[in-house]
Amino acid sequence: MFGAIEAGGTKMVVAIGDEKGNILEQKEIPTTTPEETMPQILDFFKRDNVKAIGIGAFGPVCVDETSKDYGRIGKTPKLPWVNFSWKEAFEETGIPVAVDTDVNVAALGEVIYGSAKGLSDIIYITIGTGIGVGVYLGGKLQHGMMHPEAGHILLEKRADDHFEGNCPYHRNCFEGLASGPAIQARYGKPAALLTEIEEVWELEADYIAKAIMQYICCYSPKKVILGGGVMHVEKLFSMIREKTFKYMNGYITAKELDNIDEYIVPAGLKGEQGIKGALYLAEILNA
Ligand code: ADP
Ligand code: ZN
Repeated sequence: MFGAIEAGGTKMVVAIGDEKGNILEQKEIPTTTPEETMPQILDFFKRDNVKAIGIGAFGPVCVDETSKDYGRIGKTPKLPWVNFSWKEAFEETGIPVAVDTDVNVAALGEVIYGSAKGLSDIIYITIGTGIGVGVYLGGKLQHGMMHPEAGHILLEKRADDHFEGNCPYHRNCFEGLASGPAIQARYGKPAALLTEIEEVWELEADYIAKAIMQYICCYSPKKVILGGGVMHVEKLFSMIREKTFKYMNGYITAKELDNIDEYIVPAGLKGEQGIKGALYLAEILNA
């Protein structure tokens, strides 16, 4: 049996599953402080047969397996978790842990079990409280110097958008213009209460399509998967597809772009991509 953790800013989803990706038991634990949250997590995994645990963590987090800081969280607004180490936290249990970012792990879940099954090059974009991009290229999750933070690419603000952007680091980056909290700050209401107002989603789709256009040019993914709370607004998909096609302007010729309905898609695992990806990460570690 394997363990999985989807470590989010508001809750930790912990699960036990098998090598086929079946979840056998799952529980949610509120994310407060490591002192409060970790004993509950360790307690959940206190059983005989957990061979390894995969963790999809909010970042920034060290994902370099050769580093002494592997699994350590960096500068995050979730202050009690700054410097917390996933690896150290599990040392007392003797269970090996594998750590990657929440979005990378979701991308992995989609490649193994979801919309991108069998593909070697895909990206997974989550548009929720923040915006993150999981990057899987050449059959591997991408790390590099740290890990990609592609939700923070700068986007040109549209002339009719009078919101300055709310990323504390970059103002008008993708996250600063198009995350759930950015929508709420621009219109003064939570995104979920604005679903009937067309201009909200036309602008949102426009920013998302401009970001995807850049990811296509940089990463050349064979599929683009979109998840996160904001993507519950289903009409966004057709608007994003149309605008992405328009912004590409025929520059890249590929069969994928000619069939854009199959190219830009929702997560096939419908919310389970993170936890199933984490489970698979544990399996790889154990292999
Ligand atoms: P997180 O990013 O914290 O893991 P979510 O992916 O659920 O969580 O994203 C939360 C954000 O998504 C909130 O800012 C909220 O405004 C937005 N959101 C959640 N549900 C909806 C919905 N049905 N329609 C539009 N926006 C939504
Ligand atoms: Zn930013």
